[in-house]
Amino acid sequence: MDQANDSYEVVVIGGGAAGLAGAVALLRSRRSVLLVDAGDPRNAPAGHVHNFLTQDGTAPDVLYAAGRTEVQAYGGQILHGDVDTLERDDDLFRIQVQGRKVTARRVLVATGARDELPDIAGLAERWGIDVLHCPYCHGWEVRDQHIGVLATGPLAVHQALMFRQLSAQVTLLQHTGPPPTPEQQERLAALGIPVATGIVTQVDSAAGGLTGIRLADGSRVKLHALVVAPVCRARAELLAPFGVLPSEVRLDGHLLGTQVESDPTGSTTEPGIWVAGNVTNIQAQVISSAAAGLTAAAAINNDLITEDTEHAVQTYRDRRAIQDPWDQRYASMEQMWSGQPNTPLVSETRGLCPGRALDVGCGEGADAVWLAEHGWDVTALDVSRVALDRAADHAERVGVQVRWLHAGLVEAALPPASFDLVSAQYPALLRTEKHEAELALLKAVAPGGVLLVVHHPTPSKEQANAHGFDPDEYVSPADVAALLDDRWRIEVDETRPRNVTTGAGSGHTQDIVMRARRLT
Ligand SMILES: Cc1cc2nc3c(=O)[nH]c(=O)nc-3n(C[C@H](O)[C@H](O)[C@H](O)COP(=O)(O)OP(=O)(O)OC[C@H]3O[C@@H](n4cnc5c(N)ncnc54)[C@H](O)[C@@H]3O)c2cc1C
Repeated sequence: MDQANDSYEVVVIGGGAAGLAGAVALLRSRRSVLLVDAGDPRNAPAGHVHNFLTQDGTAPDVLYAAGRTEVQAYGGQILHGDVDTLERDDDLFRIQVQGRKVTARRVLVATGARDELPDIAGLAERWGIDVLHCPYCHGWEVRDQHIGVLATGPLAVHQALMFRQLSAQVTLLQHTGPPPTPEQQERLAALGIPVATGIVTQVDSAAGGLTGIRLADGSRVKLHALVVAPVCRARAELLAPFGVLPSEVRLDGHLLGTQVESDPTGSTTEPGIWVAGNVTNIQAQVISSAAAGLTAAAAINNDLITEDTEHAVQTYRDRRAIQDPWDQRYASMEQMWSGQPNTPLVSETRGLCPGRALDVGCGEGADAVWLAEHGWDVTALDVSRVALDRAADHAERVGVQVRWLHAGLVEAALPPASFDLVSAQYPALLRTEKHEAELALLKAVAPGGVLLVVHHPTPSKEQANAHGFDPDEYVSPADVAALLDDRWRIEVDETRPRNVTTGAGSGHTQDIVMRARRLT
C-alpha cells in the first residue's frame, strides 16, 4: 500500500524482522502504525534464512513479504522508501519520507546494520552466497566443504573453531589478522586446522561458485567457502540529531561494529524513540531481531497506555472539578430554576421551523422540555447528573422525549453540523486559549441553522467575586460573536430588560441576546 495518513501513534522505520514484528505487535494492540521500509534488509544477498523456527530455508524476500502481509492484515500501512528526516516537535515526532510528512507519538527505529567487507578483489560479489560470516546462518550449508577463514582481527581463531564443528577441512588464512598466540596455535593444531600465512589478494570463483583464494606470493588455496568478519555498522544516521550515536563494539581493541545503546526493551536515551534488531545489537539474528521488535513494541504500547491513562485521569479530574460543585449546588435545593422556559428562547425561536435542537447546559430542563413540546427533536446536555435527573422527571411528567447527555459541551464531541438550533442560555462555558467551547457551539449548527446565545451582562469583578466566580473565566456572547465569519449572519445582538421573579436567575435585570444564522 502506498498511502499514508498524516498522523500515527507509532511510526516504525525499517521493515526487516525487527520492524515487521514490532509493527504487528503494535497493531494487535490496536495502535495506528505506519511502517516505512527502504527494502534492503541485511541478509538480502543470502538465498535463504536459517535458524528461524518453522521458516528454515525461506528466502528473505518471501519471509519479509509474508511479514508485510501480516502488517497489512491488521490494518497497518506501509510506505516503501527511505525516511529522510526524523525530528521532534514538542511531544510528537515529524517524519519525512520522500516529500511526505507524517507525525507519530512514538518511533521504533529498526533500520538494521551495514556490513563493511574486507577489500579483496572478487569477494563482495560472493557475499551471502559462499563468502560468509555466521555459522548459524549458513554453516550447515557448507558442512564438510573446504572452508577458509579470513583473519582480519582477533575473532578469526574463534571463527575457525566454530566452522571446524561443521567441516574437517578448515584453513585459517592469516591475512591481516594477528598471528595466533601459542595457545591458539595449539588448539588449531589439535583440531587439524592449518594456517596459511600471507595476504589474500583475490577471491576466485567460477560458474559453480567460489573456487579458492590467491595469496600475495601467487599461491592458491582451494576453497568452497570463505568466512569473513565484516565490520557491522548500525544504520543510525536518523538518530544523530538527537545525540543518539552508535557506540563501537570492540574485541581486544579490534572494531567489530557499532550499535545504538538501549535498555533491554530497546528504549534509547531520547524519550519516545525505541530501537530493535541489528541497529542496537550487531549479534542479533533474524528470529532474535523479531523478538526484540516485539519487546520494543510492548514497551511502546505500555508507554502510550501510561501516557493516555495519565491524560484520562487529568481529564476526569477536570470534569469532576466542574461537575461536583454543580451537583452539590443542585442537591442543596429542591429546585434551582424557575421551571419556566427562558424568555429569550421563547421569543427567538418563534417563527422557526422545528427541527433538531441542542440545549447546552440544560439544567433542570425547562427549555428542553418546552422545545420538545413545540415539536423540536431535542438533545440536551449538562454536567450535573442531579440536574439531568430532574430534567428527565420533568420531561416524563409532561410526556415528551428528550435525549439527555451527561457531559460538558466540548467533551460531548457532538457530530458536526447536526442541529438546526443550538441554544446556550446563560451557559457556564469555560474560556480556553483555543476557544474550544465557542468553536464547539459553532460546529454543532447545521447550515441554515440558528445559534442562540443568551447571557446576563458581565457583572463587575467585585460583584462576581462576591458570588464566588471570576467572569473572565467564562465565555460571553461577545466571545462567540467574535468567531463568526462571513459564513454567518448575526440576526440579533442586543441587551434587553429581563423580568424573572423566581429561581436562581431572578436577581438579574438584563439579558444579552445574540442570535446568528449559519449561511453555509
Ligand atoms: C549475508 C547474511 C545472511 C544472513 N543469514 C541469516 C540467517 O540465515 N538467519 C539469521 O537468523 N540471520 C541471518 N543474518 C542476519 C540477519 O540479516 C539479521 O539478523 C537481520 O537482518 C536483522 O534484522 P533487522 O530487522 O534488525 O534489520 P534488517 O533486516 O537489515 O532490516 C532493516 C530494514 O530497514 C530498512 N531501512 C534502513 N534505513 C532506513 C530508512 N532510513 N528508512 C526506511 N527504511 C530503512 C532497510 O532497508 C531494511 O529493510 C544474515 C546476515 C547476512 C549479512
